[in-house]
Amino acid sequence: MDVEEKVKKTLKEIGLKKNEKILVAISGGKDSATVAYLLKKWGYRIEGFHIDLGMGGYSERCLAAVKKLCKQLGIRLHLYDIKKEMGSSMCYIRAEIQQEKKGLKNCAICGVIKKSIMNKEARSIKGIRKIATGHNLDDEAQTFFMNILKGSLNLSANSGASTKNIADKKFTPRIKPLFYTAENDIKKYSQKMKLPVVYEKCPCAIDSYRIQIRQFMNTLTTKEKENIMKNFDDLFPQIQKLKSEEGLKYCEICGEPSRNNICKMCQLVRIK
Ligand code: AMP
Ligand code: ZN
Repeated sequence: MDVEEKVKKTLKEIGLKKNEKILVAISGGKDSATVAYLLKKWGYRIEGFHIDLGMGGYSERCLAAVKKLCKQLGIRLHLYDIKKEMGSSMCYIRAEIQQEKKGLKNCAICGVIKKSIMNKEARSIKGIRKIATGHNLDDEAQTFFMNILKGSLNLSANSGASTKNIADKKFTPRIKPLFYTAENDIKKYSQKMKLPVVYEKCPCAIDSYRIQIRQFMNTLTTKEKENIMKNFDDLFPQIQKLKSEEGLKYCEICGEPSRNNICKMCQLVRIK
């Protein structure tokens, strides 16, 4: 199956409707650019969302690529400037957090902050029903595998091509159209389509454990990565049972939807 067929099949499984307005989180990389390109090509109603992390030349190149892509696709782009909104760049925010919480890895902190911003901003944009991200087969196989190695399969309970069983007015459901598509194939596709994309890796992605897992996973074939996710799909009903019975609540500090009394974002930083 080629990239387009795979993504089409995933969208069908997700049950995405043509009349739903979708906010595509576009980082400047190949994956989210491919998501935006394909959703637009197939007539979905999309708008773009980019977080400018303020990380020097890398962020500038990402922003330029995102602007170019949105212009080419003729879609609206919503920008969130982290320096303006939160006072400093992702590097400083993270360094400050790490002074107190020494064990926390760069990507883990950045991931929590980006997710929180995305959910909040998506809610403030009129008519947005879903957020689409560029997470691909390799990302998902790594995460699933890492959760197995940690002995914490319950952490995979909220994974999947779409967020399931969460109905909350403050939570925008997320979809991953590239959930079953291999990174290598996406790279080739984005090059073939000449999408404006930054191919360099984030300079702060030095999260050693994931890199170790990624290096190992890169020795696997696409078929084997697909098999890992087939195991995930087969086990999903059982994995869901490992989830705590408690549903979504609201963070006691910021009021955002959370699985705990204090949301992950507030556990890291306090924003008003
Ligand atoms: P990452 O966590 O960097 O692997 O990114 C996973 C997905 O999150 C990407 O495919 C994008 O959809 C989204 N994303 C990451 N960084 C940004 C950003 N700076 N602005 C908007 N979306 C982002
Ligand atoms: Zn909070």
